[in-house]
Amino acid sequence: MYERILRIQPLEFKGERLDEVGKRIVAIFHPLFTGYSINDKLQLSDTEAGLITERNSAHETIVYSPSLPKLFLDYIKPLLVITSLGVINNNRTSVYGGSDKFYEVDFISAYKSYGVLNSDHSIDAIVSVAIHELGHRFGLEHHKWIGRYTSKQKYCPMTTEHIWDKAEGRITSSEYLSLQDSASFCRGCTKKVERLKKEIRRHNVLV
Ligand SMILES: [Zn+2]
Ligand SMILES: [Zn+2]
Repeated sequence: MYERILRIQPLEFKGERLDEVGKRIVAIFHPLFTGYSINDKLQLSDTEAGLITERNSAHETIVYSPSLPKLFLDYIKPLLVITSLGVINNNRTSVYGGSDKFYEVDFISAYKSYGVLNSDHSIDAIVSVAIHELGHRFGLEHHKWIGRYTSKQKYCPMTTEHIWDKAEGRITSSEYLSLQDSASFCRGCTKKVERLKKEIRRHNVLV
């Protein structure tokens, strides 16, 4: 029986309800993921010294560089790391996360995604960022909105305009969440993901 479990790794994660996150991810991607499990909580101090951090104002920040996914080399994959820390890239820009196909590690910053911990919105925000990063894992790319709504008449998680609008403060977090679908992709992206799912069902393997 084909099985592919997504391991969710909380890293300095201050929220709850990761079960709901896992369930919603599997609902979208099954059978690309046939299930999920939640690893034990991890603190920065538990990780290798290579995890580059800094403190800015009141918040600890991780630098998302190509070496970051490598730190999880010994973990069972595929892995989705969820952190309440800030994440910046090498250009010092704050990011929502990153996806590394080679190491099969996706990384998302819950801090960047929402303002209020433990709220319903925060779960929506985590899920929508998670499915964006996992979408990359399965070959989806960013696209402009150009009328590509989901079936709920919302923005596809791979749409970029509203992400920039939020990142640059033109819309609030709750406006962003009300615009974006956190349960499905647009038709074009769905087609690509469905093609992969079909291959798996046919061959019972991941291609
Ligand atoms: Zn992206
Ligand atoms: Zn799309």
